[in-house]
Amino acid sequence: MTAPAANCDITPLGCPEPCAHSKVWRTIQICIWLGGIALLLSLIFAPDAGLHFLWHILIPIAPALFIFAPGVWRNVCPLGFTSLLPWNLGLSRRHRLKPSTQGIAYIGSVVLLLLILPLRHVFFNSSALASALAISVLAALALLAGFLFERKSGWCASLCPIYPVESLYGSCTPIKVRNAHCNQCYQCVQVCPESRFGTDPTGAGTTRFHQLAGVVMTGGFAGFVWGWFHAGDYAGGSRWHVTADAYAYSFGGFAATLAIYLILSRIVPTKRGSTLNRLFACAAVSCYYWYTLPNIFGFGSNPAHAAVNLSTFLPDVTPWIARAIATAVFFWWFIIRPSGHHRWMKPPPRAPKPVEIRIRSKSE
Ligand code: SF4
Repeated sequence: MTAPAANCDITPLGCPEPCAHSKVWRTIQICIWLGGIALLLSLIFAPDAGLHFLWHILIPIAPALFIFAPGVWRNVCPLGFTSLLPWNLGLSRRHRLKPSTQGIAYIGSVVLLLLILPLRHVFFNSSALASALAISVLAALALLAGFLFERKSGWCASLCPIYPVESLYGSCTPIKVRNAHCNQCYQCVQVCPESRFGTDPTGAGTTRFHQLAGVVMTGGFAGFVWGWFHAGDYAGGSRWHVTADAYAYSFGGFAATLAIYLILSRIVPTKRGSTLNRLFACAAVSCYYWYTLPNIFGFGSNPAHAAVNLSTFLPDVTPWIARAIATAVFFWWFIIRPSGHHRWMKPPPRAPKPVEIRIRSKSE
């Protein structure tokens, strides 16, 4: 008979970690997770409020959080918390994924991201039920990945479609927080995105699959964002036209900037490679806020979509000033300010290797 591994003291909550999680982080995680459930319910039972909160408040804030404090986001993301529920309840099968399989899953995350985003124009921006369904499917996938695979290897560090955006935007934050999910490191992924020095959106130091997905994402995402904002939302009539437009604009822009990136990466000296990556990350997020900021403050085509409607108090030039300031801040953040390499989180100590205690039965 084989006794449980010596380091797996099952706590009263079932968490197979010997020391307590930070109570503050755990409280925040649970509150935000409950907020996610509330959002899901509001999409079903109060669709207008749910749609407004999701697409006009939450999503416009998210990229800024990925840029300035990706570690904070990774600690509190409700999908990440969902994925780690099986682990925290002691139910995870804890299969270990090979690095190459993790790399293939990362390609899957980029593909998922690029396929899902244009569907906002077709379904999600206008249909609360479709948005609720999409979130539910992602939550189910996260839960399944957490049930099958070791810690973050199946979802947060591989298949999650938000992870490529975090990797791209969060490549030069100096804000480091404690890892509120991992009290100990079980080395669930080959190169931990949270503990590694100098997060590189092109996946340097990992498998060729990570690198392929990373290069495609770094080069193509700026154009993808630009193209996405040039497609319109479904407003009745044929959904096929809206779908074709959404994918054509998004992938047209994607192909254009990816081609420019690939040409530049051959010209630019290797030691300047990270500056080139940061330039493309800066272009993607600047483009995002260029089109989003007027909507946030009520200067867009539909003031009802504003997070804070200031259009009645402020002059018409306000969006241009906001765009100029945001672009300057991002340029400073990505290109002028960076020095040295940064981590998203303080690395936790390594977990001791499991020790198997064999107990002889009488018949042995
Ligand atoms: S700190 Fe360790 S256990 Fe936690 S996600 Fe990173 S590699 Fe996995």
